[in-house]
Amino acid sequence: MEMTASRILDGKRVAQTIRSEVAERVRALRARGVVPGLVVVLVGDDPASQVYVKNKDKAGNEAGFAVRTVLLPATTAQRELLARVDELNRDRAVHGILVQLPLPKGLAAEPVLERLDPAKDVDGLTAHNVAALWRGEDGHVPCTPAGCIELLDRHGIGIEGKRAVVIGRSQLVGKPLAALLLARHATVTIAHSRTRDLAAVAREAEILVAAVGRARLVRAGWVRPGATVLDVGINRLEDGRLCGDVDFHEVAPVAGAITPVPGGIGPMTIAMLLANTVRAAARATGLRPDELVER
Ligand code: NAD
Repeated sequence: MEMTASRILDGKRVAQTIRSEVAERVRALRARGVVPGLVVVLVGDDPASQVYVKNKDKAGNEAGFAVRTVLLPATTAQRELLARVDELNRDRAVHGILVQLPLPKGLAAEPVLERLDPAKDVDGLTAHNVAALWRGEDGHVPCTPAGCIELLDRHGIGIEGKRAVVIGRSQLVGKPLAALLLARHATVTIAHSRTRDLAAVAREAEILVAAVGRARLVRAGWVRPGATVLDVGINRLEDGRLCGDVDFHEVAPVAGAITPVPGGIGPMTIAMLLANTVRAAARATGLRPDELVER
């Protein structure tokens, strides 16, 4: 096997570029009297969710959005939560609404997501936006999968005609990412917990994505030499450090290109959330996003 140093796909750097592009669009909107508004709804006090929400809040503020976090106690009733969503749907200053998942025990996520105005559903999780994605129509695309595609594009890594394997079939990552890769003319396999001989399936991939939530599941022997490896997983090790679903040190010498954790897909996710929100704000104002900035 040829052992060459692979290319590191630096999501942090690319995300920074996207964030400054977004900030430019925000300035253009503000010059027209529109302040893009993003609301994050956080129910309960899950520590991981608190960190994610804080990061989204900070990134949104830096880009010039009006960001508001709606904090609700874990004891919030389902109908109360739905009523809050209705309120935000009606609020014309709000262009993007994000309901942080998971919701506390006893609250069903699906009816809450379904209640979102699809135009404000910047996470792309309503049935309307899911259908739009699979039909190839305009809509909001979930941020993490959108970030994966954007990262490939901005590194000039082609998708068309390639064999892509996505490990993981969640609504949030695996399934929408498979749809996006398919739309870009990859030949896509979705693998999951019941896939037989996962290593052999993974080894077929020219683009391999791990979105599982198991530290270092993907080993060197799972990776076709030269493949592009996107590691979506965020796992906390016993010593407190973060690590992905890919054994980075083992896989990096085999892969052609690979994302680190942290600093890979994570920052791209937030950047795409901002991009989705500024687009929603432009649309609500009757502008096309590409009308906002002189090129
Ligand atoms: P999920 O738990 O909803 O889905 C995990 C998927 O992995 C399932 O479809 C399951 O079939 C599959 N799976 C489980 N065990 C498996 C195994 N042993 N072999 C093969 N497949 C297996 O998780 P999710 O929401 O899709 O998130 C996946 C990971 O990505 C998590 O670590 C999560 O923290 C991370 N994540 C990161 C970002 C980011 O911004 N980077 C965003 C969302 C999720």
